[in-house]
Amino acid sequence: MALTKDDIITLPNPHLREKSSRVGLITTEIKAICDDMVSATLSWDVSRDHEVGVALAAVQIDKLYRIVIVRNDYEDKENQTFTVFINPEITKTEGKLIADYEGCLSVPDLYGKVKRYSKVRVKAIGLDGKPFRVTAEGFLARIFQHEIDHTNGIVFVDHIKDQADAFFHLDEDGKLRQLDYEEIRNNTILWE
Ligand SMILES: [Zn+2]
Repeated sequence: MALTKDDIITLPNPHLREKSSRVGLITTEIKAICDDMVSATLSWDVSRDHEVGVALAAVQIDKLYRIVIVRNDYEDKENQTFTVFINPEITKTEGKLIADYEGCLSVPDLYGKVKRYSKVRVKAIGLDGKPFRVTAEGFLARIFQHEIDHTNGIVFVDHIKDQADAFFHLDEDGKLRQLDYEEIRNNTILWE
């Protein structure tokens, strides 16, 4: 059975704050996890009117491996292909720190304004077992920083915990509305 959006774990599941393990051999189990990540992301995608499922880390389907998938063209909801990054690492950050909105499939309906580097270099291993490198800028650089954080047990809200003006709710009409910080601060779902 293919995984669905209901297999995506959300806060306060404590696994989201655990470090994932490096992948050794790319076994049939690892390949199956990658397929499951894609089907869970696409299932989530069709359930959301105003959002696109752009990426996922394996921990989000409760498999604590350092695996990330990134959609090949996240501006085109019709394009349902992804690239797999195994044991991804940021080797260099460049550019400026820019605060912009980001959300997470494991933190439903909540968005945050998070500072991220505008350019990163990433190295990883592909499903074929071969190492490769990419340079990402702008939103794609943000995606890599967000997803690689997941492999280290960090959720985007952890970066903005003390920022009163950084939390937003995605309303049903697709608009972001700033949230009351007192409610965020006392929200036991978000914080350990
Ligand atoms: Zn996420």
